[in-house]
Amino acid sequence: CNNEYDVVVIGAGPGGSVAARNLSRAGHKVLLLEKREKIGYPVRCGEASTKLSDLQTYGPIDEDCIETIINGLYIYGPNGVNIDLAQKGTGIMLNREKFDPWLAHLAANDGVEVVTRARAEFVGDVESGTRLVRVKLGEGAGETTEEVRAKMVIAADGVESRIGRQVGLDCLQKPAFTCTGVDIQVQGILTKPDYLTFWQGHDFINDGYIWSFPKVKSNVTNFGAGFLISNNHGSNVLDITMEWLYKLFPGAQINHVVGGVIPVSSVLKDYTLDRFALVGDAAHHTNPLTGGGIAAAMRAGRFCAQTVHEGFECGNLSKEFLKTYEKRCYDYFGRMHDFEYKFRRFLLNVNKEEQTELYKVLQNFAKHGCKKRAFLQTPVSSAKMLYKFLKFK
Ligand code: FAD
Repeated sequence: CNNEYDVVVIGAGPGGSVAARNLSRAGHKVLLLEKREKIGYPVRCGEASTKLSDLQTYGPIDEDCIETIINGLYIYGPNGVNIDLAQKGTGIMLNREKFDPWLAHLAANDGVEVVTRARAEFVGDVESGTRLVRVKLGEGAGETTEEVRAKMVIAADGVESRIGRQVGLDCLQKPAFTCTGVDIQVQGILTKPDYLTFWQGHDFINDGYIWSFPKVKSNVTNFGAGFLISNNHGSNVLDITMEWLYKLFPGAQINHVVGGVIPVSSVLKDYTLDRFALVGDAAHHTNPLTGGGIAAAMRAGRFCAQTVHEGFECGNLSKEFLKTYEKRCYDYFGRMHDFEYKFRRFLLNVNKEEQTELYKVLQNFAKHGCKKRAFLQTPVSSAKMLYKFLKFK
C-alpha cells in the first residue's frame, strides 16, 4: 500500500467492490482491502438474487458468473396451501466464487488498488481531515502492520462489521433480529431447474424457511435454511436442514456445508460518521424477510460512492452530509424492507390456522395477479387476516 488515499474501502464483497469501483471511476484514489486470500471464497450464501436487470445497472454481468435464469418461485406453504409464482426472469442464480472476484477485478481494471490478505484492524478518529487505517498484511511469520491515511473510509466488512463497532456505531447483531443460516451444496438438481423453491410454515416453522436453489451450469443445488437465532429453530438450524434434506430427497449427496449469520433487523437507523460509512450487511441492508443481501449491498455501494463523490466535490464529508447516502438507500430499498420486517414479525404472531388463511390470500394473488378477481375470490376468513396484518404495529 501507499500511505495516502482519498478513500479506503474495507471488504471486497459485492458492496465494497461496487463502492470502490465507482469512486475510482469518478477520479478518486482508492484502496480496497480484503482480509481473505481468495476474494469470494469460501462462499457463505445461497447465491440467489433478484432479476438480472437489477444487477446489470452496474454493467452487464459476465455470463460465466450466472448459473441459472429463474422464471418463478414455488412455496410449499402450511396445510398444503402451495403458491406457484411464475414470472419470467424474476431472478438469477449466481456463482459467487466467480462473481465476487469478477467484481473486484472490474474495480482493479478501473484503477482501484486491491490488496488481499489485508485485514483492517483499526480505524482512527478524524485528525487534520483524514482517518488512519491500521492494516495487518499477510499471515504468520511474514505478517506486517501498516498504517494508511484516507479522507474517507467505507467499511463493507460484512455481517460482523468489527470496524463498524470499533468506531462506535451500533451495528452489533441482536439475536431477535438475526438469522442463522446454513447452505448445503448437494450434487445434482433437486427441484424445478428454473425455479427457486421454498418450504415455509411446515411443522409450524414461521421464523424462517427452507430453500432449494438450483445451480444448473454446475449441476448442484444449494439446499439451506435460515431461522431466527432467538427461536428454537435458530440454534438447531443445521439439524433441521439435514433432517428436511433427507426427508425430501433421500440419498442426497452432500458436497459441502457452510453457515453464517444474516441480519434481518431492517436497515440501521444510523450508519455514517464524519468521513466514515457502512455499506451492505454491515449496515443491515439485507432484506429482513428473505435474507437476501447481494443486490442491496451493491446498490448501497453505488449510492455510497455517489454521495462520497459529491462530498469531495463540495468539500464536505461530514456525518450530516453523508446522511444523503442513508436517505438514498432508505428511499430505494429501506422503506420496503421496513414493510417486509413488519410482515416477518406478523408471521411470528399468528397461529398455524391464521398462517394458512394468509397463504390462501397469497395463493389467490399469485393465481390472478393484483386484479379485482383476486379480491373477489379471497375467502372472508383470509380477508380477515389481511385486515389483521394491516392493523398490526
Ligand atoms: P460480504 O459479502 O460479507 O463481504 C464482506 C467482505 O469483507 C468479506 O469478503 C470479508 O472477508 C471482508 N472483511 C471483513 N472484515 C474485514 C476486515 N477487517 N478487513 C478486510 N476485509 C474484511 N443473499 C442473497 O442475496 N441471496 C442468497 O441466496 C443469500 N443466501 C445466504 C445464505 C447464507 C447461509 C448467508 C449467511 C447469507 C446469505 N445471503 C444471501 C446474504 C449475502 O451473502 C450477503 O447479504 C452479501 O454477501 C452482503 O454483501 P457485503 O458486500 O455487504 O458483505
